[in-house]
Amino acid sequence: MEQVTLYNGVKMPLVGYGVYQVSPEECERCVRDALAVGYRAIDTAQSYFNEAQVGHALVNSGVPREEIFLTTKVWVEHYGYEEAKKSVLESMRKLQTSYLDLVLLHQPFSGYYGAYRALEDLYAEGKVRAIGVSNFYPDRLVDIASFSRVKPMVNQVECHPFHQQGEAKRWMEKYGVQMEAWAPFGEGRGGLFENPLLVQLAEKYRKTTAQIMLRWHIQRGVVVIPKSTHKDRMAENLNIFDFALKPADMDRIAALDKGQSAFFSHSDPAMVEWFVQMVEERKSK
Ligand code: NDP
Repeated sequence: MEQVTLYNGVKMPLVGYGVYQVSPEECERCVRDALAVGYRAIDTAQSYFNEAQVGHALVNSGVPREEIFLTTKVWVEHYGYEEAKKSVLESMRKLQTSYLDLVLLHQPFSGYYGAYRALEDLYAEGKVRAIGVSNFYPDRLVDIASFSRVKPMVNQVECHPFHQQGEAKRWMEKYGVQMEAWAPFGEGRGGLFENPLLVQLAEKYRKTTAQIMLRWHIQRGVVVIPKSTHKDRMAENLNIFDFALKPADMDRIAALDKGQSAFFSHSDPAMVEWFVQMVEERKSK
């Protein structure tokens, strides 16, 4: 598996397996399948409510822990220094591990500075090998990179051919932050799997449109974490290291960019209210 090297020297696989919207019932089987077909990086989060199932799969897989790059994310209701620290230790308990490879702040809302201080301390204590953020747009990223002891090593953001994040990527590069794409297929929104250009390129390279998209990401130096509950698709999504897109075809895919989210904007106040409501609802449960 090809890897990228984060600015602190830690190596991270270019392709990992993401478990968002994988139900707790299916999650253990899915992670076992992913490891069986060759994935060595798993991306989960406190808010996916499947860390315990990921932990079971990892322990029962027989794959040595040190071969796996394990990421989780701290959810907003656990922000603030003390709560965030406690929640990461709880994630480690659920994941049955004595350390994490990467911990990200999931969203740029509420007390994220306190939470980030907790990540900096966990990093200094050696419990976490790398720290970072997710969904931090360039203004928030530059702010936290500037006012922290340990700059984020990774920023996980929405990225796919319809939302290529060129400007965000340039800011990340300026600060030495590795870009990681969530929804590398845009969850197929807007007909991405059937896009005529991607279909044409799939025929040309004898690959699938999914593989063309993933190859495009990694050739841009972006880490991907595609999700599938199907073992054959998991294998398909890993099988992207035996071909390369020509520069002209990279440019043709670049022209698909619509420059806007296929989901929502984190700087839309109505969406911030939606997150606040979700946090309140979960607190009352
Ligand atoms: P993806 O872009 O990975 O799309 C997943 C969808 O694509 C599923 O419907 C899956 O179907 C389908 N699919 C997967 N592989 C193929 C294939 N080879 N051919 C055809 N269809 C395929 O979206 P996600 O939202 O799942 O993003 C991936 C990961 O990113 C998440 O699991 C999570 O780890 C992370 N993420 C992080 C977020 C954040 O805020 N930080 C937000 C969203 C995601 P099926 O399962 O049926 O195969």
